[in-house]
Amino acid sequence: AAEEGFDIEEVEGAIEAAGHGPLPVLAVVGRPNVGKSTLVNRIIGRREAVVEDKPGVTRDRVTYEAEWAGRRFKVVDTGGWEQDVLGIDASVAAQAEYAIEAADAVVFVVDAKVGATDTDEAVVRLLRKAGKPVVLCANKVDGPSGEADAAALWSLGLGEPYPVSALHGRGTGDMLDQVLEALPEAPEQTFGGGVGGPRRIALIGRPNVGKSSLLNKVAGEERVVVNELAGTTRDPVDELIELGGVTWKFVDTAGIRKRVHLQQGADYYASLRTAAAVEKAEVAVILIDASESISVQDQRIVTMAVEAGRAIVLAFNKWDTLDEERRYYLEREIETELGQVAWAPRVNVSARTGRHMEKLVPAIETALAGWETRIPTGRLNAFLGELVAAHPHPIRGGKQPRILFGTQAGTKPPRFVLFATGFIEAGYRRFIERRLREEFGFEGTPIHISVRVRE
Ligand code: GDP
Ligand code: GDP
Repeated sequence: AAEEGFDIEEVEGAIEAAGHGPLPVLAVVGRPNVGKSTLVNRIIGRREAVVEDKPGVTRDRVTYEAEWAGRRFKVVDTGGWEQDVLGIDASVAAQAEYAIEAADAVVFVVDAKVGATDTDEAVVRLLRKAGKPVVLCANKVDGPSGEADAAALWSLGLGEPYPVSALHGRGTGDMLDQVLEALPEAPEQTFGGGVGGPRRIALIGRPNVGKSSLLNKVAGEERVVVNELAGTTRDPVDELIELGGVTWKFVDTAGIRKRVHLQQGADYYASLRTAAAVEKAEVAVILIDASESISVQDQRIVTMAVEAGRAIVLAFNKWDTLDEERRYYLEREIETELGQVAWAPRVNVSARTGRHMEKLVPAIETALAGWETRIPTGRLNAFLGELVAAHPHPIRGGKQPRILFGTQAGTKPPRFVLFATGFIEAGYRRFIERRLREEFGFEGTPIHISVRVRE
């Protein structure tokens, strides 16, 4: 490496940065209008507003990547939520519960100017039960005169309140230092479910595609409910289901079975629930209603799973209702609308008739195998060498960037770092990804390719 212009530390650093495993998850919870979205914007270092003025705006995006003091983590924003028919306490609780469930640590935001309300107290009780580390953010402390308001929040019993102005950035550094203390290096849910533990599946898809029906079909009478937290009244969320002689853990099934009846904000709940399930899972089985046109909402769910870096299986449900014409148009739609996951194994099922249920497990196993694939460095570089020789990068400005070598920095999903003599264009990166897939498979998994350029 050194003689090629990269020093060894640079190479090792790049490999380590690219090879990180799953990131720990931080949830930001609290009542409406306390400043959660403003704080999330601050944490992810973005100016453009996540903060919405219009009530009832659907926000699909709920998780973001962030970095503080060189550590990376994910942030779950629960700010896109609307008070609903259940009343403020119930809906704040439901919202917080989903987020807390998926999180490794929580920032609880309170409006210090208002002080602790009954709703805040209710969230504190939830946080206690969940037992996750909590950092208390006393927000809207825009100047020193607000410090006393922050100190009053010691009464919540969550330890030190961090006085913060999410709006101006005041105090957010100290609070984030504390967040890093609270966050584990790697997520609690180590992939693989521990040695010999069941693999974790998230069954996701927009409302009415048949998730609940499918779960009932595959579970039959075999269902075992797990993860009942002792001493709580919470719904059990995960279920162990035996399929094809193997026990799988379907995560967050409570969200599938017990539909929260909501008027406003229901879409947002669905997104939050989906994000939470995806965070906890290794493989996402994305259910799509084959009888209807593939929608933007379907695509967003696919994007969520891809961005989370999960193994992916596409299951087209309600196959029993399809006629020849619909089957024809569905194939065209899949090509145009789901091109981003053309690599995902696909099954055409019917939760009603049980059609092709037996194909689900092999598809899941294929996707997990792709997700865990590791290509030895020698083989990868032999492949890259041939590829670059046969199809060099186009010449730009009189120069021809060249890929010198590469390595796989991590798995779950596969992550590659390529070292190059100049900027590698997006088109050429896509070409490399395509060829990698042709050569090594990677069925059912996103792959990440980052490129380091020699200075
Ligand atoms: P969310 O509903 O909890 O996500 O709250 P938002 O982030 O949407 O903020 C609600 C309102 O509080 C907005 O008008 C923000 O501009 C305002 N706000 C948020 N943080 C601060 C702060 O630190 N100081 C002040 N003065 N206002 C803030
Ligand atoms: P969920 O909201 O994704 O959990 O969807 P449900 O399982 O509640 O199903 C929504 C509707 O679709 C119900 O009326 C189901 O009976 C129906 N449904 C689910 N799977 C199938 C299927 O394979 N074929 C047909 N014809 N209907 C289905």
